[in-house]
Amino acid sequence: MKDIVGNKVVLIGAGDVGVAYAYALVNQGTVDHLAIIDIDEKKLAGNVMDLNHGVVWASSRTRVTKGTYADCEDAAMVVICAGAAQKPGETRLQLVDKNMKIMKSIVDEVMANNFDGIMLVASNPVDVLSYAAWKYSGLPWQRVIGSGTVLDSARFRYMLGELYECSPTSIHAYIVGEHGDSELPVLSSATIAGVSMRMKLAKEPGLEERLEKIFEETRDAAYHIIDAKGSTSYGIGMGLARITRAVLQNQDVALPVSALLQGEYGQEDIYIGTPAIVNRKGINRVVELELNEHEMHRFTKSADALREVQNNFF
Ligand code: NAD
Repeated sequence: MKDIVGNKVVLIGAGDVGVAYAYALVNQGTVDHLAIIDIDEKKLAGNVMDLNHGVVWASSRTRVTKGTYADCEDAAMVVICAGAAQKPGETRLQLVDKNMKIMKSIVDEVMANNFDGIMLVASNPVDVLSYAAWKYSGLPWQRVIGSGTVLDSARFRYMLGELYECSPTSIHAYIVGEHGDSELPVLSSATIAGVSMRMKLAKEPGLEERLEKIFEETRDAAYHIIDAKGSTSYGIGMGLARITRAVLQNQDVALPVSALLQGEYGQEDIYIGTPAIVNRKGINRVVELELNEHEMHRFTKSADALREVQNNFF
């Protein structure tokens, strides 16, 4: 891995998700230079101007430029948000044919320009496309990260926070598995302000049903948001910015991302949502949660659903 000076990020795909991510990055002052690539050059030029006009009010200066693939050579990170998005009623897995081709063309260009940093993938279906980005790039698996269930876990923590009148930052609860319809909540190890959900489940009648409803709202949130406003963008934009900070600031923080499994949860050769320790080298290690029997059964089914799609391409 090259010793890259500075915190330059190349963002590929500046649609609703990409621009929300760029806005979060500029606001948070995380990077020195944000170079943005999109095939829609006119819209891109407008977004670059607009973002630069907010820089004076940010916590530190970010240079935002219209990028080219040559920018990848000295980039610390490449973040891929390009591709078709879900239409109302469409599942994430149904996007795979369109987005796999786009992913290959993008990764080929990135690697042809000597990229040697960390690749973060958000395009859907994110688990299968992260696996594809790892295969096409030839980068070590630690350096290809999918956004995985970072958004789903944030949604779940927010909703639990509403139920318990507690900040989501004091709630530890993961959604794991596919970023999509087969994902699952891990209640067996969840805590609310340090109190285990297992204890709450034993004491509070009707809680299990309420939690299942909250999980269903979490899982189906994207469908409702897309129906209402056409896309989901701010939540994932902030989630991607969080992963970017974890990498660039070498934070060693546990985040629910999509990572390659090599025996964890009894799975091999698949990218799927799981907590992992993220730092300047990418994924330092996958965290294998202790799942109960029911959770393990659901996780295995989720991995099977992803593998079925993945096997059509690899
Ligand atoms: P969008 O249609 O608003 O934007 C997509 C952008 O990609 C467009 O600006 C388009 O011009 C660009 N693009 C397409 N092909 C390209 C290429 N070859 N090179 C460069 N740019 C290219 O879509 P969106 O709402 O921003 O969603 C983007 C992707 O993110 C979708 O696949 C969507 O499903 C996914 N998404 C992921 C999550 C997550 O949690 N991982 C959440 C929301 C959306």
